[in-house]
Amino acid sequence: MSGRILIIEDEKAIVDILKFNLEKNGYDTQAAYDGEEGLRLALEGGFDLLLLDLMLPKMDGIELCRQFREKDTQTPVVILTAREEEDDKVTGLEMGADDYITKPFSMRELMARIKANMRKRARQAQPEDSQDESLEVGELRLDPVGCEVYRSGNVVSLTAKEFDLLKFFMTQPDRTFSREELLEKVWNYEYYGDMRTVDVTVRRLREKIESDPAQPRYIVTKRGLGYMLKS
Ligand code: CA
Repeated sequence: MSGRILIIEDEKAIVDILKFNLEKNGYDTQAAYDGEEGLRLALEGGFDLLLLDLMLPKMDGIELCRQFREKDTQTPVVILTAREEEDDKVTGLEMGADDYITKPFSMRELMARIKANMRKRARQAQPEDSQDESLEVGELRLDPVGCEVYRSGNVVSLTAKEFDLLKFFMTQPDRTFSREELLEKVWNYEYYGDMRTVDVTVRRLREKIESDPAQPRYIVTKRGLGYMLKS
């Protein structure tokens, strides 16, 4: 697999090791050493994935992600966090990041995450490989070809991961999925998963598609079991 990856990280030693390993695996890389430069390069586009550190000079990674997502909802963003930044990774997911990886990480784990996130994106960009009929549940309509979701005819703006998750639910309504199953099927994780990733993405999705996210009509919690989309 190949692609262009933007590394936004202020620690030169980490950038160097990331560049070395990514290039060895066939990726093109570019680096930005502060948040402002990172955002500018990210918005110029042409990247297949962003690797984003959170503690950055000039603009932190959370703010960068928020501003980036206002313009680009599709390019996968993978956050690099330190263990002591547990809360930040949740904030990062809320700001529209797709995934995170905790430092120190192994290169094997990082490559697996990058591949999983790029594969999902590539699959979405090639609608001929997937079914192209609109999916409808209640007032929701999902167009797999145009990658758009409508609620009562109005476009709902979703990130790539929110779209993937909703599509997965809409293809199999009224079936309960455990968070482990969702991580495996939607995030392509066979290992290294964190269940909170699922919870945060479900919460964000509810805020966008439910009239009352606290009393969801569509994505309901099945206590002790997981989540289900009600038809
Ligand atoms: Ca840093």
